[in-house]
Order: sequence, then C-alpha cells, then structure tokens
Amino acid sequence: MDPISGVVEKKVAESAWAYIRGWFTRNRDQKKQIEVLQAQLAEERSGKLAFEKLMSELECRPADDSMYWKKDGSGGPYCPLCLHGDQKLMPLTHGNRDGSFYCRIHEHFFETEELRQRSRQTARDRAQAGRRLSRFGPWS
Ligand SMILES: [Zn+2]
Repeated sequence: MDPISGVVEKKVAESAWAYIRGWFTRNRDQKKQIEVLQAQLAEERSGKLAFEKLMSELECRPADDSMYWKKDGSGGPYCPLCLHGDQKLMPLTHGNRDGSFYCRIHEHFFETEELRQRSRQTARDRAQAGRRLSRFGPWS
C-alpha cells in the first residue's frame, strides 16, 4: 500500500465511522424524544379521561348562570368558567344574598334563577307600593 492511498483510506474510514456514530447518536436522541412525547401523550390522555369522568359526575343548570352541581348532591355550585377554561373544579363562595355565588378567581358573581325571580318580585312590590303612596301624596 502506498502512503497516500493509506491516508485516504484512513480518512474515508474515519468519516464513515463519524457518520455511523452520528447516526447512532441521532437515533438515540430520536428514541428519547419519542419516549418523552409518548409520556406527554399518556399524561394528557389520562388528564382528559379524568376531566371527562369529572364532567360526567356534574350537572349544569343553564338557568342558574350555568353553574355546576354534583349530580349526587354532594357538592356545588362550581364555577363554569373555571371548569371550561382551566378544567378545575372551583367551589363558589356564597355571595351577599341567598342564591348569589362568587368565584374568587374570576371575581364574578353568579345568580340562581330563583334569586332573579325574587328580585323581580321585590322590584314589582316596590313599584306598586310607590304608586299607592303617590295616590295619597301632595300632588293628588
Ligand atoms: Zn372561576
């Protein structure tokens, strides 16, 4: 073997080896990436399943500002914004009136249909009382 072709052969062998080594490294990295992705997917899937299970145990009452209650009556109401936005079960705190509930995260008040009807009735009663009073007022 003459010295020049010996050098060339060595270079070829080196670059081939570098290529193979690189391929193995890339392959190993890809395998690692796939494992990470699979783990993420499994986690996402189990999170989604847990959320679906949670939602199946809840009941939405559209008339009551779409608040959620546990179907078995063991809890509620829960914030619909927290549920749909963050997939979190956030119990609402009582507002200043019966039937009024508050989400501390959204700083939002929710009202039951019952409370709205009661306030409408109160407004009607006041208006009637006002008319009765004006009949005996100084302008009649
Ligand atoms: Zn909320």
